[in-house]
Amino acid sequence: MPTAATSHDPRRHVPRTDRLLADERLAEPINRLGPALVKAAVVSAQERVRTGGLTAETVVEAVLESLPANASGLVPVINATGVLLHTNLGRAALSSAAVDAVAAAAGPTDVEFDRSTGERARRGRGALAALAEAVPEAGAVHVVNNGAAALVLAATALAAGREILISRGEMVEIGDGFRLPDLLGSTGARLREVGTTNRTTLKDYLDAVGEQTGMVLKVHPSNFVVRGFTANASVAELAAALGPLGVPLVADLGSGLLRPHRLLPDEPDAATALRDGADLVTGSGDKLLGGPQAGLMLGRVELVESLRRHPLARALRVDKLTLAALEATVRGPATPVIRALEADAEQLRRRAEAVVESLRQSGIPAQAVPCTARVGAGGAPELALPSWAVRLPAEHSGSLRRAATPVVGRVEGGALLLDLRSVPAAQDESLTAAVRSTCADPT
Ligand SMILES: *Cc1c(COP(=O)(O)O)cnc(C)c1O
Repeated sequence: MPTAATSHDPRRHVPRTDRLLADERLAEPINRLGPALVKAAVVSAQERVRTGGLTAETVVEAVLESLPANASGLVPVINATGVLLHTNLGRAALSSAAVDAVAAAAGPTDVEFDRSTGERARRGRGALAALAEAVPEAGAVHVVNNGAAALVLAATALAAGREILISRGEMVEIGDGFRLPDLLGSTGARLREVGTTNRTTLKDYLDAVGEQTGMVLKVHPSNFVVRGFTANASVAELAAALGPLGVPLVADLGSGLLRPHRLLPDEPDAATALRDGADLVTGSGDKLLGGPQAGLMLGRVELVESLRRHPLARALRVDKLTLAALEATVRGPATPVIRALEADAEQLRRRAEAVVESLRQSGIPAQAVPCTARVGAGGAPELALPSWAVRLPAEHSGSLRRAATPVVGRVEGGALLLDLRSVPAAQDESLTAAVRSTCADPT
């Protein structure tokens, strides 16, 4: 005999899916988020009624509470790690100017259209012009999907079936198991290693240059340093020697810095590398430039033009949202990463003390402590940035990560540090509120 649900059995009171979805309070979310996400929330709320965790009367409220803020599963977090460019948190945060530009470009735009003539126009000309104006040393500019794509395009166009000369000290892994030699080799170019891990001289390169040389690649070791008995041929030296031989010199800068920055003396920049004679420089859009994911290519006119016209370029093309964000990043106000880099330690101390004071009023025993922040994402690996953090017991790190406004800090010396150098000052209040609601002792 099948066991019939009794009147005490919560299963009898589980409201039906179609009835719940027809509830007028769910009409707006269905319209905004789509029926699938709302239905998923309904199904999980029904399950909670079935298991006794929720009453049938409050099911719609529970659905409304559990709905995501938008239709993407990506949740904005507060980066209190003290790593200014955190790869797992999406690297650079866009400036509000770039965010506005992305929103404006989301619909139909004139990304590839000349409104005065009604004809087709150069795609992304605004972003390209912004980069060209920021780096007048570049004869021409091209933008692809990311730094790796820029290298692939250069290697394919200049050296497929031929050789790329590269120093053994620059055969680097950029992160998550991706190694530049493998990436370059995938284009059909052969890597010819020159020099040794710690010492590579101009002569090493020149001894290897020959008929088969498609390009010489200088890679900036952006996530490590080699110290001690070292030698390295500079871009200037290489350019002077390779120019007369007609061998293109490509400099992969990594960080995407367009011009020198006083706080980053060891970080190469595009303007300097081009002035030193590099034929092409490549870099990322979402590292120290502080923009969207993109691969920047700046260099000699004929070279950049041949890259732009290469069939592979179409497969590496960037989206209009990227072009919009990139232009606004280059033309707009200081980016969040540069603001964080330049933030005054004394001001960070005052901010940390204000957050701590406010938390203590809620009975949360926080402390303001000095600490050291980093650039991260393969930039300026040696640079220690003096910073201040809000210190909390380490046990809060998980609940803060999972909070409605997630805060990601770092655990150091057995405590949770919320490092304020990577947090824009405008987020101090949200950070404080998140900590208060997560860490306050309910008793
Ligand atoms: C980061 C980096 C890359 C890869 O750039 P992505 O934009 O992440 O694809 C290549 N070379 C160097 C030296 C880098 O630092």
